[in-house]
Amino acid sequence: MTTDFNLTKSMFHLPEGVIYLDGNSLGPLPKAAREKVSAMMTQEWGDMLITGWNKAGWMDQPTHVGNRIAKLIGAEENHVVMGDTLSIKVYQALASALDLRPDRKIILSDSGNFPSDLYMAQGLIDSLNQGHELRVVAPEDVEKHITQDVAVTLITEVDYRSGRRHDMAKLTAKAHDMGALAIWDLAHSAGAVDVDLSAANADFAVGCTYKYLNGGPGAPAFIYVAPRHAELVRPALSGWLGHRAPFAFDLDYAPGHGIERMRVGTPPVIALASLEAALDVWDMVDMADVRETSIALCNQFITGIEAACPMLTLASPRDATRRGSQVSFRFEHGYAAMQACIAHGVIGDFRAPDIMRFGFTPLFIDMDDVNLAIERVARIMRDRVWSAPEFNMRAAVT
Ligand SMILES: *Cc1c(COP(=O)(O)O)cnc(C)c1O
Repeated sequence: MTTDFNLTKSMFHLPEGVIYLDGNSLGPLPKAAREKVSAMMTQEWGDMLITGWNKAGWMDQPTHVGNRIAKLIGAEENHVVMGDTLSIKVYQALASALDLRPDRKIILSDSGNFPSDLYMAQGLIDSLNQGHELRVVAPEDVEKHITQDVAVTLITEVDYRSGRRHDMAKLTAKAHDMGALAIWDLAHSAGAVDVDLSAANADFAVGCTYKYLNGGPGAPAFIYVAPRHAELVRPALSGWLGHRAPFAFDLDYAPGHGIERMRVGTPPVIALASLEAALDVWDMVDMADVRETSIALCNQFITGIEAACPMLTLASPRDATRRGSQVSFRFEHGYAAMQACIAHGVIGDFRAPDIMRFGFTPLFIDMDDVNLAIERVARIMRDRVWSAPEFNMRAAVT
């Protein structure tokens, strides 16, 4: 398949004059999502009322949508389910993995991980109160720290700040050699890079759908459990919709079949409708084309910015194979500079202490956008536009 990126671009609502390089944080609105959500509201919620759970298939949506996500991340059918937020899914995967390795106490992660993943691990350790330890090492040292005392590795494939990409297959193989399990967080991978969970032999994976998958703010997260573990894992969050027979209303919990047991409570039906509209765009897309185009866009941006802005230092790997779909630069006044970029129609974001982050998503960003973004950023840097006071006041969300 050759992807028609002009067509995919036309499927998004993109405000006039804006070059949106922040689809890695919140994907833009797929035009069809408006109609889809509106139709769901009136025809399903409005007219069907509670019968929508059966008639409109609301109850099956978490696995139905999970199967659509599975195709984008190389997961086997019926092994991905939707629900909750990514932080919750991290907790579930980690609790299940620790339960499968009762003789080991070490959770291995790296300092490039997104803090929420580490916080969830710390909270789980405290609740379990069985002497587990979270070992956080430098990203480049992960491999050598996968030793025989590690129960599970909890690694985010693409670093949210630098865009550095871990070698999933290699680290998973090392984990298995050492008798450990591997959990992969795909927050900055799903829809951004070519992921093949099955080929990499991952044990668990989790991710969100409001970043590169464009599901909308607060869109539900996903969790993958490898087929070999699916009937063995014990859910830590044993909600009624993960029960084998939710409508039997038994007083005792019995886990549902396979991935179903990773469901917790009532699915977010409205949010899933919006996500479905976003996934319709992905039906027209070949991930290999996305990856190839993303690399070309990122390389062009790096070359252009480095030529025009000597005050910015590349914080992402130069080697595209070691990078996700974003490019970051360090700059002492990065916060103010990013505010100035946003005011001038180039939306990226800032990550403390000094990272200016730009995401590249071929579905709606093309080479002309990249060249225009380079021009605008170059002018802001050259003329020190960022030094104006209005760009130096911090907002709550950066
Ligand atoms: C974005 C992100 C999260 C956010 O978690 P939520 O529960 O969806 O807010 C967690 N982990 C990683 C690695 C992320 O990139």
